[in-house]
Amino acid sequence: MEVAEGLHQRLGLDYIGVNVEELAGILEPVIEELVEARSTRPKADAIVNRLERGKQLLLKAIAANLLDREELTPEQVEFIVANAEELAGRAAPKLYRQAERHGLEHLVDALRYLWERYGNPLPVRCPRCRFSSLTPDLECIVCGARVGEEELKRSIGFKDMLLEYARTADHGILREILAAGFVVLDGELKPPSLRPASGYSIVIYLNREEREEVGKLLSEPKPPA
Ligand SMILES: [Zn+2]
Repeated sequence: MEVAEGLHQRLGLDYIGVNVEELAGILEPVIEELVEARSTRPKADAIVNRLERGKQLLLKAIAANLLDREELTPEQVEFIVANAEELAGRAAPKLYRQAERHGLEHLVDALRYLWERYGNPLPVRCPRCRFSSLTPDLECIVCGARVGEEELKRSIGFKDMLLEYARTADHGILREILAAGFVVLDGELKPPSLRPASGYSIVIYLNREEREEVGKLLSEPKPPA
């Protein structure tokens, strides 16, 4: 408790809403870990390293404690992103919503990067929040949006993507796509027959115009490869 009081003052934790009692609870496992890691009569640089490591562990433990709270203040969101990158990446959906609520636009790019690195990035980006977070059901696991097929098509430039793919694809594949009426997207476009049996894939249906454009390519002789 004494340790917690001293540290609480020194770190100025009032601004992120952590009180002395809470800090004492957070500190306990951190101190245990530091004491366990102890060797006999460490050298000065070993002590410095250990203190530095202790500080990192403590800041991460405080961030983890804050993440358990339902709502966060702007200062708490900033503290977590600044001091616990891995936790922030995994908790990006929660932190993104809190950042939006408080207008912390400057944190969103950092969160997007941390989500890619430590979170659960999916192959297709959400048209709204631009995180790699769109499920095959067209729901975003970060911002929670439900995205329409047309909105997704616009955001990925579907028509250009489709025609670019179709121009180099074999006529057999074009016929297959026209017969099925859809293509599969799992980061890249694929014909229905290459849809992964399990795991991630989004089914995108072609509208009339897209079917006509693909149909036109079929009536042209295939250009030499
Ligand atoms: Zn989103």
